[in-house]
Amino acid sequence: MNVLFSKIIKNKLALLGGIILFILLLLIITTPFLNLSDPNAINTSDRFSLPFTSNYLLGADHLGRDILSRVMWGTRLSLAVGFSAALIAAILGSFIGIIAGYFGGFFDNILMRSVDVLMAFPYVLLALAIVAVMGPGLFNSLIAVAIVNIPFFARNVRGISLAYAKSDFMIAAKISGRSTFSCIIFELLPNLIPTIIVAFSTTIGWMILETAGLSFLGLGSQPPQADLGSMLGEGRASLIVHSHNSLIPGLMILFIVMGFNLFGDGIRDALDPKLSQGKLGRSKALTDLKKNFVFSERCSKSFLEVNDLTTKFIRNNYEIEAIKKVNLSLQKGECLAIVGESGSGKSVTALSITRLVASPPGIITEGFINYKGTDLLNINLQTMQDIRGKKISYIFQDPQSTLHPLQKVGSQISEIVINHKIINKVKLNKEVLELLRNVKIKDPERVVNLYPHQLSGGMRQRIGIAMAIANKPDIIIADEPTTALDVTVQAKILSIINDLKRELNLSIIFISHDLNVVSKISDNIAVMFNGEIVEFGKTKKILNNPNNQYTKKLIKSSPKLSLVKKKYNA
Ligand code: ADP
Ligand code: MG
Repeated sequence: MNVLFSKIIKNKLALLGGIILFILLLLIITTPFLNLSDPNAINTSDRFSLPFTSNYLLGADHLGRDILSRVMWGTRLSLAVGFSAALIAAILGSFIGIIAGYFGGFFDNILMRSVDVLMAFPYVLLALAIVAVMGPGLFNSLIAVAIVNIPFFARNVRGISLAYAKSDFMIAAKISGRSTFSCIIFELLPNLIPTIIVAFSTTIGWMILETAGLSFLGLGSQPPQADLGSMLGEGRASLIVHSHNSLIPGLMILFIVMGFNLFGDGIRDALDPKLSQGKLGRSKALTDLKKNFVFSERCSKSFLEVNDLTTKFIRNNYEIEAIKKVNLSLQKGECLAIVGESGSGKSVTALSITRLVASPPGIITEGFINYKGTDLLNINLQTMQDIRGKKISYIFQDPQSTLHPLQKVGSQISEIVINHKIINKVKLNKEVLELLRNVKIKDPERVVNLYPHQLSGGMRQRIGIAMAIANKPDIIIADEPTTALDVTVQAKILSIINDLKRELNLSIIFISHDLNVVSKISDNIAVMFNGEIVEFGKTKKILNNPNNQYTKKLIKSSPKLSLVKKKYNA
């Protein structure tokens, strides 16, 4: 709850919405105690009095009634009606959604088709029709607005319930003999609450507007009772000459709806796991450097040299030093392996090199990364984007999540090529086919037209490699490229990377937690533990003669796959 609150507070617009709503809440609570004049008392001699005249702070309307008093009481009424309508729609809609989603089949069909019927009409028209049948009045307009908003909740909740109903924890609960009621209330509902709250908070402003709209048309509150919509309707006749009559309730509606919408959006950003980083927390394209970062004065012409690189993750409530004073070097055509247990900082090291660590919360606090005489920490985004994918490219662990699921692999590879050079279509297609052949795909003409889900894990990783070499980079950073694959496919992928390294004279940073794998491909090894490089040196030396205690443990714990080893030593 505290986290939610602090997220909302940090989002400035949501905070503004919250403040508006708080003031409104204070107003409607204190209205009965404020010694206001009777909102319905007519005083014809004061008709259309202007604001700030002796008796009327906000002026008087066409019947000489006090606008301040009417607006205060009207706001109370409008909020109460809008809120009740939203609550009814949320409860009924969620109920329908849960039943349809949980039980599926027959219930789902009946309920959802009924909801579809409601949705088949433009809903302001539907609300008008409902009020026309039931007769004008505030209560009837409340019912009408609630009914037309039920489908929104029903559809949202049904979709999520359907997914949860088939999930393992629900099936486990059912098998363990829990009653349907208990499954729904204790297993399903808690998972739906965030969705329902989000839907509620983002639509309540809209529903207040709808009830005001019905009153404006004379179908909601009936004279002399005031709500904001009816005040607006009455003021319309004198809009030009006595504009304060409609302007004041109009502004009030604006504030209410703005308050609810801004605050509702804030709640959505804070509650929705996909938006959990909030609008303010979205990652930047370039990892931040700490304030007053001291750039190194060193000048190095070496190929790639990383010096004292330190990256932290900083949030309000924690600070992790993910990597500490990392030193590495890589020559042209060389393969450097970074090994270490999970969480030791291998990926953060790799991502820091091209400043791809998510920021916030990532921040580079110290270091120097020389790539052919340029300090990669001291260049702007444009220059870095020219380097990424063209000079230094990545192969990630899980090609399934890095490839676009709805785009054919051919066009995904093309995109990488045309991002970095101008090329005509015929040449481009030829180049893509050639890239696929480079990664040992036998029938590239067929594969270019496939989607990622039509390929096996090993094939997908080949596409990932083809994309990495598409612009003939100097350096490829492969972050556990074979971890997700089974042993035979892993061997094939390693041999492809090894061949490409030789043919294209590539430099490779190969990240793995598996010493067997790196022994086949690397010239040097850097062993990482707890964010630090604990040992660095020639592969043979480190494997046969480790100095560090942790390296010794790592070697001891690796299973010996002698068969595969033989093949790659050959
Ligand atoms: P690995 O060696 O398995 O690749 P990583 O480099 O991914 O490990 O992670 C190193 C450390 O940084 C870990 O302690 C991890 O918890 C932390 N870390 C990585 N990404 C984030 C993040 N986005 N926010 C906070 N901490 C992170
Ligand atoms: Mg990793």
